[in-house]
Amino acid sequence: MRKAGITDELSLSIDYARVCKIINAYLKENTFKLIESAAENLALVLFANFKELTEVSITVKKPWAPIGLPMNHVAVSIHRKWHRAYIALGSNMGDKLAYLENAVEAIKNDVSCRIIRISDIILTEPYGPVEQDEFMNGCIMIDTLYTPEELLSFLQRLEKAANRVREVHWGPRTLDLDILLYDDLVTDNEELVIPHPEMHKREFVLEPLKQIAPNVVHPVLKQRIRDLI
Ligand code: ATP
Ligand code: CA
Ligand code: CA
Repeated sequence: MRKAGITDELSLSIDYARVCKIINAYLKENTFKLIESAAENLALVLFANFKELTEVSITVKKPWAPIGLPMNHVAVSIHRKWHRAYIALGSNMGDKLAYLENAVEAIKNDVSCRIIRISDIILTEPYGPVEQDEFMNGCIMIDTLYTPEELLSFLQRLEKAANRVREVHWGPRTLDLDILLYDDLVTDNEELVIPHPEMHKREFVLEPLKQIAPNVVHPVLKQRIRDLI
């Protein structure tokens, strides 16, 4: 709201009348058992309708709840925002380019993701101990409403849909989608390590990443991608 506030320019603000109409229509057409669910779905609807919206706080109040004690209402409040993430794409089996392009298309069509930039696809000699065909690699910059865990399981569903079979570690694969960075997050849980622990050692990750995000800073190494390279 900052720009609208300092310029007093109507076109820079969100049209609140439209917000109200959208919420009103959506809640008339849809029924939810939980106010949690009403809040989550409203957030999605608002992000889909207002491209300029970057974050939103929503409170849903329920005027009556079966609690048996006097109270005015119960409520849930949520805050949702677009998170910036970088994903590495790789393939070294079958129609590699088609696998990569289909993955990009599926990410683009997901309501919880927006593709911001796509790098060129580069050809890379295979990495690691297993004898295999050369790789196609690339990177994308996305905005996502998913949590890191949700993003990982979404990407794993796409890998599965591309007939990826997990056989040998670092072996040939139709599609590999790794989360490189997610905001400035640093995690260390078992299923998900962010930043990706190998990214700074891999030219096939850093080269395409530099193309789309040369000045992004690795939150652990505190260096820009262009300098890490
Ligand atoms: P590497 O991670 O070294 O590139 P890989 O991509 O071949 O190896 P996979 O078999 O695709 O490894 O993934 C193994 C596991 O890695 C996944 O099941 C996932 O839980 C975990 N993982 C941890 N951190 C990440 C991340 N940042 N992005 C994707 N997967 C991750
Ligand atoms: Ca990988
Ligand atoms: Ca992987």
